[in-house]
Amino acid sequence: MLTKKRLLVSTLATALATMALPTTTMAGAFIFSDGNNADRITHPSNYNGTGGVLTVSVCIAPSSESISDMIVPVENAIATWNALTPTTGNLIFGAANDIPSGSIDFESTLAHEIGHCIGLAHPNLATESGLGEPNRNYTKTDEGPNNNFDLGIGADGVRGSADDDRGDDINLHWFNTQTNNPFALNGVVDSSTYSVNIANLPNSDTFAANADRTVSGLFGVPSTEAVMQQGQGFDEDQRQLGHDDVATLRLGMAGIDEVAGTADDYTLRLEYGGVASGCDITVQVTGTSFAFCSVGGAGVAPGHFRVSSATAQFASTSEINWFFNPNSNTSQVIFEDGFES
Ligand SMILES: [Zn+2]
Repeated sequence: MLTKKRLLVSTLATALATMALPTTTMAGAFIFSDGNNADRITHPSNYNGTGGVLTVSVCIAPSSESISDMIVPVENAIATWNALTPTTGNLIFGAANDIPSGSIDFESTLAHEIGHCIGLAHPNLATESGLGEPNRNYTKTDEGPNNNFDLGIGADGVRGSADDDRGDDINLHWFNTQTNNPFALNGVVDSSTYSVNIANLPNSDTFAANADRTVSGLFGVPSTEAVMQQGQGFDEDQRQLGHDDVATLRLGMAGIDEVAGTADDYTLRLEYGGVASGCDITVQVTGTSFAFCSVGGAGVAPGHFRVSSATAQFASTSEINWFFNPNSNTSQVIFEDGFES
């Protein structure tokens, strides 16, 4: 199951080709970071350095297939990102979920792609590394001066964990400098508590741990994985965000000064714009690629980009047996209202 899942989600390279910026890697916890700009942060569409509520519209393309089936999952994924509720145990399989065996959950996949569409990259090396499984689960890095990924697994035998030996690879994964635990959230999330510089790792840790499902057991939270960790399997419900997903977005929400609680902070409000053209994020079902978000970027300030265009595309139902969740996640909508007040 795991291998099949990983092979399916292999189309982020498609998005690379359409990036508006001359970056060569889809890298780091933020899109547009790379070895020369490891701490570059990418913000959602419309952020210009002014704090407050940042509204980003999400539409279903009028030319999309399966429009009527998409509406509820699109609204659900929007509510999930607006609520920013960190969860553990967010991998739910078999009889414990409502997804038929042999189907892939559209809402879970969409939650991942919306993450890309608002500036987040994979926490793991993923398919864009060119590596095979299982090495794609090592923490996101640039190859560094030797132009190769260095993949020392460490004594725990788990890829992507805190004892990995990554040679001269340049870390692109923001980590909690007090814990290096991607399954927990610091009270303050900004550059005073998170870093990409491995010199700031705690204890005797040798590398940034990423919120992969195999790493989660080491932290005592099995069946947990960041939504932004690449991959979606059959009969897999991963609709709820992990702590690392929330931490990364909140790091951006600290604004250009990267200090939480100042005037340039923003809160993200995704808004469903219906079946229409011209929204900040367009979602469509068409074609043969499994799923990707094609993202353009623009500079906001030194070390800070924002998304300038985003289209999330999912394969036609003739290619992928999508399960379209018919049930609204009402409780999350209520939480969203509370979050806004
Ligand atoms: Zn992805």
